[in-house]
Amino acid sequence: MNFTMDLPGLKGVKVTKMEEREDFIALHVEMPRTPHRCPSCGERTERIHDDRIQKIQHLKLFERWVYLFYRKRRYACRCGKRFAEKACFVERYQRQTVEWNQAFRLRLIQGKNFTDTANQFQTSVTTAMRRFGQLAAPLVKKVDHLPPRIAIDDYKGDTKAGKYQVIIADADTRKPLD
Ligand SMILES: [Zn+2]
Repeated sequence: MNFTMDLPGLKGVKVTKMEEREDFIALHVEMPRTPHRCPSCGERTERIHDDRIQKIQHLKLFERWVYLFYRKRRYACRCGKRFAEKACFVERYQRQTVEWNQAFRLRLIQGKNFTDTANQFQTSVTTAMRRFGQLAAPLVKKVDHLPPRIAIDDYKGDTKAGKYQVIIADADTRKPLD
């Protein structure tokens, strides 16, 4: 089996094998081999240095979790530089796809609570809280006038500030205030 899949978030990705494992679907994927520009000298190269398999969590397909087994290549340049290939579906140092992260961020904001969201995305509550903190930080600024309706919720967290947190949001726009 060898086909290019146009699943959301996996455009242009070559699927070399698809297996049903006990509790998830394993998609073996790679990027097409293309000339890459060396980040060091600017020359183009198509020479592959090596590759390794990286397991990356993706979204659900037919109600089953999909894990990508991504054969990630490193290219080698004549100047001696070795560098990772470009891949649109995963960012550096991430264990989940770009698409997973987008869906997760949306659910963090709209979801019931962190435990529920973490369960839905098969990740830890700590990760959910940390990501929410990263999301919320640029949105929260000094509020001079309170909106007509505010929503207050408390939750058990674990931040530098302590074990329990309170969030105050605009009840109509759902934007966090503090
Ligand atoms: Zn080079």
